[in-house]
Amino acid sequence: MSRDDKLRALEELQKVDLKIRDLAQQAERHPARLKQIEGGRDDAKAALDAQRGRLADNERARRQNEQLLQLEKEKVRKWESRLSELKTTREYAALARELDIAKKTNEGDEEEIRRLAGEYEEIRKGLAEMEKQLAEKDAVVASEGKQIHEDLAGVRASMEELEKERSAAIAHCDKSLVAKYERIRKQRGGIAVVPVEGMTCKGCQRNIPPQMANNLRSGGEILTCPNCNRFIYPAESESAAAGA
Ligand SMILES: [Zn+2]
Repeated sequence: MSRDDKLRALEELQKVDLKIRDLAQQAERHPARLKQIEGGRDDAKAALDAQRGRLADNERARRQNEQLLQLEKEKVRKWESRLSELKTTREYAALARELDIAKKTNEGDEEEIRRLAGEYEEIRKGLAEMEKQLAEKDAVVASEGKQIHEDLAGVRASMEELEKERSAAIAHCDKSLVAKYERIRKQRGGIAVVPVEGMTCKGCQRNIPPQMANNLRSGGEILTCPNCNRFIYPAESESAAAGA
């Protein structure tokens, strides 16, 4: 296997590895989006539950006030019927004062019941709005969530294909170079094999020494950029090979 063949095989492996990296990055966005839309749905559900709790509290408070008012009204009626039976002015005055207080309390209770009834309508309106919002969020989870799950299944299938491609690509590589390729790839953002144009390494955009550029063109040994440590090959011969 010539030097150029070895580097071309590594570069083919690199192309597959870059596709795998892109696909993995694409797949990472899916769970984040899924979490976002499901989180939105859960928040809407929690808000609706809290509003239902407020409605139940309101209904309970109104029932209690109505029962209390009923009892107090009966008490007032009894007292009023007793007023005429009272013998002394002192007894009469005392009961009349009690009656006054009871009637004022009842007016306060009636006011509170009206307030609770008004509040009930507001809570009901809020509830209807929240139910609508939850239905919308549920629809997003149902449609977009389903799409995401389908996309993820597609990504998994593509990944399996790419892993097969990778096995095939690695089989064409010089085994002694693969470990070094892996090391450089991890250190250098996925790019381990780069062309040199003129004297410029296209990995780091810096010039290699002139003597090294000459050695690179004359072929033979595998060279790495003294700056970024990537495998380098002459771009000219690459394009000549591609044109041939
Ligand atoms: Zn370089």
